[in-house]
Amino acid sequence: MTLYSNFCREVARFLKMSDDRAFENKFPDYVPSAERKSSSIKKDDLLYNIGKLVNRLESEVSGIDWKDSSVYTGTSGIALMYLHLSKTLSTEQSQELIEKAFPYVEKSLGRLKGHRYSFLCGDPGPLAIAAVLYHRTGRQSQAQEMLKKLQKLNRDVVKLENDTPDELLNGRVGYLYALLFAQKHMGEACIDKTIIKNVVEAVLISGQRLATDEEFPCPLMYKWHDSYYYGAAHGICGILYMLLQARDYISPSQMDKLIRPTIDYLMTLQYPSGNYPSSMGSNSDKLVHWCHGAPGFVHLLALAHEVFGGEKYLVSAKRCCEVMWHRGLLKKGYGICHGPAGNAYGFLVVYRITRDEKYLYRAQKFAEWCFDYGKHGARVADRPLSLFEGLAGTIYFLADMLKPDRAAFPAFQLW
Ligand SMILES: [Zn+2]
Repeated sequence: MTLYSNFCREVARFLKMSDDRAFENKFPDYVPSAERKSSSIKKDDLLYNIGKLVNRLESEVSGIDWKDSSVYTGTSGIALMYLHLSKTLSTEQSQELIEKAFPYVEKSLGRLKGHRYSFLCGDPGPLAIAAVLYHRTGRQSQAQEMLKKLQKLNRDVVKLENDTPDELLNGRVGYLYALLFAQKHMGEACIDKTIIKNVVEAVLISGQRLATDEEFPCPLMYKWHDSYYYGAAHGICGILYMLLQARDYISPSQMDKLIRPTIDYLMTLQYPSGNYPSSMGSNSDKLVHWCHGAPGFVHLLALAHEVFGGEKYLVSAKRCCEVMWHRGLLKKGYGICHGPAGNAYGFLVVYRITRDEKYLYRAQKFAEWCFDYGKHGARVADRPLSLFEGLAGTIYFLADMLKPDRAAFPAFQLW
């Protein structure tokens, strides 16, 4: 028995280990065959289940006095779900779905906080979504008013001396996403490019200062609430991913000297299972969530492969997919922040790059899991209807499965 085969057996044992955070994945894994191809998910099944879950959401949401206006767990997230459905379902329903989004975002606009700057948890989410909805319905002056308010926030976001974090959920790259989201839906010219450039620059300076001051082995480092988080929601993975998506505003030298070596350093932290640690100092390979762990990292690695080339990023991304397949049917629910719907987006990003049917198959199996929403004994989320913890996110993902090539994790992926 060679050392290598011992190692492989150990990794296989580790991957199959049951854990208290995920259901055992009993779906057979992908085997290339004509038979398997024909058994892939049907569009009618997707449409039926989307319809069923939307009906459930609409009947449950009507009785709630929803005070949370955020995209993450509040009314703006429901508006974003309807906006998404208006683009992914049939064109006949499009106008009706846009109209359904309006009351949710207008409710959020009445509750702007004026002190949080991310798309997911602050004012930029409702402002950017409202701008797109007004734009889609021809109300251009209202759309412009929203964009003006959104861009005005940049003065506080770029100040390095205040305590604005850099991370996605509450910080600077969450604001950056809102600007890029507006550009994606309304055209590049709708946002002042100097603002984007200044936000990117602030994030790069902030990361360099911390890495230098605290002598980290990579050129960029970030912290949130005194912890050096690594994941997509609060950590460096989400920050680097957003910077890579804004690479038109980053110089070749900054890409080579700051971004790429930081990603290369993070890759040295990957666990034998394929998972990534949630924060510095954490050695427990537990969380397989988009917010913490491999399902967030897979997006960064896949994009690094596209931008920098070479196989190593793709190899690491594929290793993320292994742990997501074995331990990704989470007991926390069916959502996108920490649930199988969010984890499935990682399979789709690797499928888009490799065209390997295995990854599409795995995403389809996670979608089938979501068809049986609430029937596996998973926990009910704290905000059970919301976009990031609950039902709206599951619906968003199933709608993306109608056109998996164009699927994009909300408030994170931009194509
Ligand atoms: Zn989460």
